[in-house]
Amino acid sequence: MAETKEIDNKEKDSRRWSLDGMTALVTGGTKGIGYAVVEELCGLGAKVHTCSRNQAELSECLSQWHTKGFRVTGSVCDVLSSSQREELIHKVSSMFDGKLNILINNVGTSYRKPTVEYTPEDMSILMNTNFDSAYNISQLAHPLLKASGAGSIVFVSSVAGLLAVNVGSLYSAAKGAINQLAKNLACEWAKDSIRINSVAPWFIRTPLVEPSLGNKEFSEALNSRTPLGRIGEPKEVSSMVAFLCLPAASYITGQTISVDGGMAVNGALYS
Ligand code: NAP
Repeated sequence: MAETKEIDNKEKDSRRWSLDGMTALVTGGTKGIGYAVVEELCGLGAKVHTCSRNQAELSECLSQWHTKGFRVTGSVCDVLSSSQREELIHKVSSMFDGKLNILINNVGTSYRKPTVEYTPEDMSILMNTNFDSAYNISQLAHPLLKASGAGSIVFVSSVAGLLAVNVGSLYSAAKGAINQLAKNLACEWAKDSIRINSVAPWFIRTPLVEPSLGNKEFSEALNSRTPLGRIGEPKEVSSMVAFLCLPAASYITGQTISVDGGMAVNGALYS
């Protein structure tokens, strides 16, 4: 009898660290942080759907994941298009029987100009890619997340949304808005059993930033800004994203968690 109880407790404990039986949508899963998040969630047992704009890259990624035994599907979606966002959620709903446990709003992009040089078109691209699309995908996914009985959204934000760093005011403003959105949704949707958090990385080695890392001086300046002395790798972000989706994180909501090698607490920067 005591032994059966112990086995029951062990089983309950291991479920806290597993995503077995759960479903997930990861936007922008073919490269960088999104790719690592897809792998992390699958590794923990989730079934994942992902999207990007490029069918050939998507097919290549899907074949790599199938070889590894991961349960991933994918479809082309440009998150800047409202009709394609609706189509994406419709697809996810029909695949996962109207229920979704996990939404990772990962798509984002950045390019830097002095503020006075940003055009209305830059404003539209940067705000729509980094904020509006994630806002709308969250709205569209809400009924599915609620229907799952245990939903979780993670926004992939940036330390640029917490501190003034030299990556462009539009990107920073959009990421700051994402961090605030996580707080509002956490309070508004708690009654629907949905937790919402955001993860704020500092520079991570991905195709988005690799061209600038080619500049030795820039790269060395970045490294010297973090107490850990280096920029991060996508897997160092995906582990935090996945943790926030686990039952083990059931009391964490409305938070913005930096994954930045200590950059945001580095007072030495300002001395
Ligand atoms: P990345 O290497 O450029 O990968 C972005 C992914 O999103 C790709 O799969 C890309 O595929 C897809 N994507 C881009 N625009 C899209 C669109 N309009 N519709 C659908 N899919 C789209 O970027 P990353 O560095 O991994 O960044 C991921 C997230 O982390 C972003 O939100 C970024 O702001 C944030 N972040 C990154 C860093 C960093 O240093 N890397 C630091 C802080 C925060 P296609 O281009 O083929 O569509």
